[in-house]
Amino acid sequence: MARFIFITGGVVSSLGKGLASAALGALLQARGYSVRLRKLDPYLNVDPGTMSPFEHGEVFVTDDGAETDLDLGHYERFTGVAARRTDSVSSGRIYSNVLEKERRGDYLGKTIQVIPHVTNEIKDFIRIGEDEVDFMLCEIGGTVGDIEGLPFFEAIRQFSQEKPRGQCLFMHLTLLPYIKASGELKTKPTQHSVKELRSIGLAPDILVCRSEGDIPQKERDKLALFCNVRPEAVIAAKDLKSIYAAPLAYHGEGLDQAVLDAFQISPAPRPDLSVWEDVADRIQNPEGEVNVAIVGKYTQLEDAYKSIAEALTHGGMANRVRVRVNWVDAELFEREDPAPHLAGYHAILVPGGFGERGTEGKIRAAEFARTRKIPYLGICLGMQMAVIEAARNVAGVAQAGSEEFDHEAGKKRFEPVVYHLKEWVQGNHKVQRKADDDKGGTMRLGAYDAVLTEGSKVAEIYGTTAIEERHRHRYEVDIRYRDQLEEAGLSFSGMSPDGRLPEIVEWQDHPWFVGVQFHPELKSKPFAPHPLFKDFVRAAKENSRLV
Ligand code: GLN
Repeated sequence: MARFIFITGGVVSSLGKGLASAALGALLQARGYSVRLRKLDPYLNVDPGTMSPFEHGEVFVTDDGAETDLDLGHYERFTGVAARRTDSVSSGRIYSNVLEKERRGDYLGKTIQVIPHVTNEIKDFIRIGEDEVDFMLCEIGGTVGDIEGLPFFEAIRQFSQEKPRGQCLFMHLTLLPYIKASGELKTKPTQHSVKELRSIGLAPDILVCRSEGDIPQKERDKLALFCNVRPEAVIAAKDLKSIYAAPLAYHGEGLDQAVLDAFQISPAPRPDLSVWEDVADRIQNPEGEVNVAIVGKYTQLEDAYKSIAEALTHGGMANRVRVRVNWVDAELFEREDPAPHLAGYHAILVPGGFGERGTEGKIRAAEFARTRKIPYLGICLGMQMAVIEAARNVAGVAQAGSEEFDHEAGKKRFEPVVYHLKEWVQGNHKVQRKADDDKGGTMRLGAYDAVLTEGSKVAEIYGTTAIEERHRHRYEVDIRYRDQLEEAGLSFSGMSPDGRLPEIVEWQDHPWFVGVQFHPELKSKPFAPHPLFKDFVRAAKENSRLV
């Protein structure tokens, strides 16, 4: 049966709870344990699928088609454990389940209350698959004291009482602010945060304290005394140059040892950190640099393309170069010639996106990359835009466009080279959609197989002709244009197994121009860079020697 680690946060948000959880997961794996990480989010949205990337950052999609919080991306990148639908839950989902049960009459006429009905629903969620792993790490989103978070805190308190003693551990992340004028590191906010936790019946076993620099022994002792933890369980989380240095840094601070001590696991298995040593070496000692432009819409918030930025970093690590990413607003190219803006880049990436805004700019970016022979990776919408560019400028379909934009504008302006898919096969069942379906959870979501053409560039890159990648989109490239586009030189080198849905396109007469309907970035790891990102950065590196 699993041991449970609950990770909470206090003082301020954005302290890196997700990263600390992911790094701890990696360290427990390095000691030979199996882990699973979960995120419990207090917000009332049923899932982040319909939340704006400006608000909430990227939506991370799992193999089984759940639209989840971007922290699940961190978990996967650090542990290599593929996240599942049952690894992410929000208050919205919990309440919606409870209300559904109430409507069905499952509660036999009882009055439905936060305790026990909502808290039971949360505990049931935490328990899913508890026999499968050695450690289950559950991160509670938000900060202690938030109104929405209370049922989660209450649920984990009850949960730890119901389990045998010593099976649950609480780790609390806080901030130690540094006051420059007095040269002091302040412990009071942490003391208050722990007091807040204790008032709802939770006592942390481990304190992880974010601070700019080292925490002197005096402050550690003070924290231990006032917050009732052992001095060795006060862990410093200093600012790092790269998130991939986190596992080694936390190990150096004794986090994994403190966790095993708290569970009274003795002797503790010795860790094998060689994977993370190699990762840290690659990130810290690049032998060159390449510049990549990401031409997108959500450029003000880097988290909107979190996995892409990480996958590019991984591609850089594989090629021993640092990838310098610049975010370029696609709308700029609707007013100005892309040439002066994109000239200095060694490669161009057009990511996924929704809605018409910025798409004409992305089409121009694709044209620039095609005609100037600059490496181009188009992801999802970035592939669709590359196909529209090819149709308009090479295959003679002057009005080529996507139905998505016509739907949005409420009129018909384009010849739909990209159309709204309403029926497809998932595993062995048929999925059907209507134009006026709900927005949430109705896209083609999750892992699907694709078959690659023997001898194509992508088959060579993947080293196989059978792949499985994650999807999140409503629209598809129409195969009725295939012959016309292939004649123009754009090969459909990856297709769904039934041959109906284009998965990959590549320009024949180009050093590296690939568009993919799926999201390869979601499966890249620092210790196993995704083949497409690895080769894309290799092409950028080659191009950097030419320009
Ligand atoms: N908006 C496009 C679609 O729904 C692309 C989605 C995406 O890029 N993830 O098909």
